[in-house]
Amino acid sequence: MLSKSILQNFRFKTYRIIFCVSEVFKHKKWAVKSIFIFLFLLGAPFIGYNSPFIWGFWAHQRINRLAVFSLPPEMQVFFKKHLNYLTENAVNPDKRRYAVVGEAPRHYIDAEAYGDSALYKLPLYWNEAVKKYGEDTLALNGTVPWAIQQYKSQLTEAFRQRNPQRILRVAADLGHYIADANVPLHTTRNYNGQLTGQEGIHAFWETRLPELYAEEYDMFLGSAEYEKKTALRAWQAVRQANAALDSVLQFEKNASLQMKPELKYALEDRNGVVIKTYSREFAKKYHQMLDRQVERQMRASVKMVSDFWFTCWVDAGQPDLGPLASFEWDKAEKEQEEKEKQNWFQRLFKVRSENEN
Ligand SMILES: [Zn+2]
Repeated sequence: MLSKSILQNFRFKTYRIIFCVSEVFKHKKWAVKSIFIFLFLLGAPFIGYNSPFIWGFWAHQRINRLAVFSLPPEMQVFFKKHLNYLTENAVNPDKRRYAVVGEAPRHYIDAEAYGDSALYKLPLYWNEAVKKYGEDTLALNGTVPWAIQQYKSQLTEAFRQRNPQRILRVAADLGHYIADANVPLHTTRNYNGQLTGQEGIHAFWETRLPELYAEEYDMFLGSAEYEKKTALRAWQAVRQANAALDSVLQFEKNASLQMKPELKYALEDRNGVVIKTYSREFAKKYHQMLDRQVERQMRASVKMVSDFWFTCWVDAGQPDLGPLASFEWDKAEKEQEEKEKQNWFQRLFKVRSENEN
C-alpha cells in the first residue's frame, strides 16, 4: 500500500515535472539543459529500453563489465581500476550513431545484400572487400566484422603506446562492436522484423528478454584466451549470430499464433511513464522456445570481448600496465564527456518528439 502511494506520488511528480519543463522549453533556452539533466537522472534506463536496434544499454554495459573479470591479473590491475569507465562507455558507439558520419554501419551487416552464403564468401579483410565492392556499397550494408578488426588493431597500438585514455576508449568501443556482432538481428536487413510483420522484435529479443531473465543467466566464464585468427573470429561471430536468425523470427511467429493478440502486449510502468511492451506471458513463451539463446549470445559476447582485449595486449608485447593504473581522467576530459552526453540526449529528445508528432 505504502509502495503504491509512493509510486503514484512519484508518477504524479514525474508528469508534473515533464509538463513544467516542456512549458519552459517553449520559451527559455537554458531549460533545454535542465531537461536533459533531468532525463538523464530519471530516465536513462527508460530511454535505453525504448531505443530500438541496439543491444539494450544494460546488456552492452554488462558485457564489457564481465569481460574484465576474465582478464589475467597483469591486465586487471589497470582494467579493474577503470571498471566503471568501461561499463558506462560501452554504449558510446550507439550514442555516436546519430552524430558521427560513418558510425552507423559499424554496428551491423546485412548478410542477404550479398546473396547466398555471403558471410562465408565475403572477403575477410577490409582492403579486399573495398576492391571488390567499393566503400559505398560496404557502408550501405554494414561493416561490423571489419570494424572489429580495425578496432582490434587500434587497441593493440594503444597498448604499444601505453596510452591509458586511448586504451580505455578503444577497448570500450571494441567491446560494443563485438557485442553487436553477436546479435542475430544485427546480421539482416529485416533488423526489426519490419519485412515479416514482426516490428518490435529487435528490442524484444535484446532488451525485454534480458530485462526479465538476465538473473537466470549463467555468466561465469573462464580466463581470456589468445586468439590467433582475429579476422576469422569476427566473421565466425556474425555467421553464428546469423545462423540463429531463423529461430529468432520463427519462434516469435509461433508464439504469436499460440496466444490471443490482445494478450501479446501489456502496459507497464517505467519510472512513472506507462509504455506498451510485450507481455510477460508472451515473453515467457518466447524465452522458453528460444531455449537460452539470448544467454548463449551474451556469453559468446563476453568471451569474445575478453579474448580480444587480451590478444591486443599480447600482440603489443604485454606492456606493464601497473604504472598506468593510477591514471585519472583530467577535468577538461570529464567535462568534454559530460558535454557529449548532453548533446546525445538533446538529439535523442529531438528524434523522439519528431516520431511522436
Ligand atoms: Zn550498436
